[in-house]
Amino acid sequence: MKKFLAIMIAVLMLALTFVACSNGGNTEKATLVMATNAEFPPYEFHEGDAIVGIDAEVAQAIADKLGMELKIEDVAFDSIIPGVQAGKYDMGMAGMTVNEERLKSVNFSTSYAKGVQVVIVKEDSDIKSVDDVAGKKIGVQTSTTGDIYATDDFGEENVTKFDNGAVAVQALLGDKVDCVIIDNEPAKSYVAANEGLKILDTEYVEEDYAICFNKNNAELEEKVNKALEELIADGTVDKIVAKYIKA
Ligand code: GLN
Repeated sequence: MKKFLAIMIAVLMLALTFVACSNGGNTEKATLVMATNAEFPPYEFHEGDAIVGIDAEVAQAIADKLGMELKIEDVAFDSIIPGVQAGKYDMGMAGMTVNEERLKSVNFSTSYAKGVQVVIVKEDSDIKSVDDVAGKKIGVQTSTTGDIYATDDFGEENVTKFDNGAVAVQALLGDKVDCVIIDNEPAKSYVAANEGLKILDTEYVEEDYAICFNKNNAELEEKVNKALEELIADGTVDKIVAKYIKA
């Protein structure tokens, strides 16, 4: 009888453990932590308390597909790759251009959008084309591809680095710099939001945007990339882009 009771208690305890575990599994979804710099409209920007934009919505669609909970961390652009490398964030998504240098530090997903580096000037500027930028004061967002190209092509002494595009554009408005080199979509937003600015017709450099991952997290990278490819194939990404970028 004693032995029977002991077995019964053991069975009960085991059953309880299972219930507890499965409950935990049901209520807690795994989180997908995305690092971004939410100063890059229309890819990511603040709307009230929320971070919205193309990247935020594509990431949400990926998380939904994977049954995960999306968490967006808004950090400085140049903290994204180091944070992903350190395992602080699962991925970086920030209108981020794929390039050789970054590929040494992180892996990239399939590209989901194209970007073009353009030059913003004041309407009455004597800078008429990219060639006229030589010798002028150039504003960039620090550590972006615009920064890298401008520094390589026109010399570090001519480049002023700002925390984000919005501050660079303020510097242009205040004549602290003669032009700003930045991605075309945020450029359009800044020009629309401020009087007296225009984008030069000549495009500077074309590039591909993709999500970056830690080099040692192949499992997550494959899952996210597969979800992204499905969302590209079924037109979801196009639909999100069309919501933010009017053709
Ligand atoms: N596409 C540019 C880059 O990757 C700018 C991205 C950004 O400022 N969010 O460097």
